Amino acid sequence: MAQIPRHHRQILLPEIGASGQAAIQKAHVMVVGCGALGSFAIDQLARAGVGTLTLVDRDIVEATNLQRQTLFTMADVECARPKADAAAARVRAIDPGVTVHAVVEHFDSENALELLRGVDLVIDGLDNFPSRYLLNDACVQSGVPWVHGGVIGTEGTSLVVLPGTTPCLRCLFPDPPAPGTTPTCDTSGVLAPAVAIVASHQVLQALKILVGASAAVDTTLVSWDFWNERQTRVDVRASRDSACPCCGLGRFDHLDAPAGSATVLCGRGAVQIVPASKAGRFDLHGLCDRLQTHGRFEIDSGRLRGVLDSVLGESGDEVELTVFDDGRAILAGTTDPDRARALYDRYVGH
Ligand SMILES: [Zn+2]
Repeated sequence: MAQIPRHHRQILLPEIGASGQAAIQKAHVMVVGCGALGSFAIDQLARAGVGTLTLVDRDIVEATNLQRQTLFTMADVECARPKADAAAARVRAIDPGVTVHAVVEHFDSENALELLRGVDLVIDGLDNFPSRYLLNDACVQSGVPWVHGGVIGTEGTSLVVLPGTTPCLRCLFPDPPAPGTTPTCDTSGVLAPAVAIVASHQVLQALKILVGASAAVDTTLVSWDFWNERQTRVDVRASRDSACPCCGLGRFDHLDAPAGSATVLCGRGAVQIVPASKAGRFDLHGLCDRLQTHGRFEIDSGRLRGVLDSVLGESGDEVELTVFDDGRAILAGTTDPDRARALYDRYVGH
């Protein structure tokens, strides 16, 4: 008796069928950010039979991730495993037939276009706005569809961007929020079921795009307030802006901007982060207030300083953070530039 294929129940769906499954199997999907949204999305993409997955993340697995980042376990925490590597191993365990590439790198203007080569679709699992604007630029320039997802606290958003057809991120929101003004999961918390719903919505749209069901793709900007069971949809089909610097005028400011630097300070066991854009003076007092749940932070002679509770560097020591009023920071206790960048984005903000 012939063996029933593993995707049988998905092929049974008239919306997918054998030809849809073949298209899914031929597809190459990149997930940028393998945290909470990334975890749920990668799991579903692998099980759906996407032929090739590229997983990009610069950070390592920590115990506080396990509440919502379902691809990881304590074993990954104990060996401080990079998220992209741990996620790739999990994908291979789910389905050895999926070709999976783990990229343990910071997604930036230097590698974005190269990473997009040969990719059919991108899922946004990012945790910060500068990287999303960069992803938008790179996808519009390369003509690759991407599906935005974002969750903070108990709220979420999603948007499909089909370059040349639907509005891009900059048509709707011309500029990213000012650095240091937006909450992050690390300062506001995040509800796991909220992440699961947003990531599922992203994968649903991805599958529709991959099987060519363009008429069924969600063309609204969706916002959810999960705790109060509210959903808002804004039809954005008519909002493509011919004067949009990105998809209208073909100016890719975020892709052309120099990447911020992360420099290992020799002999100090520390990394210095210089942000890419310096938007005036940095609000050290606001940051100091937000960081109080993560350790004891003080401002002294124009710089904020403190130790991040239970955030450990490679040697097992707690990481000490110093932030200057131009946004520059020094993270002592680590000599890994990608780790330092990740901590900067999470705690200092974007
Ligand atoms: Zn645009």
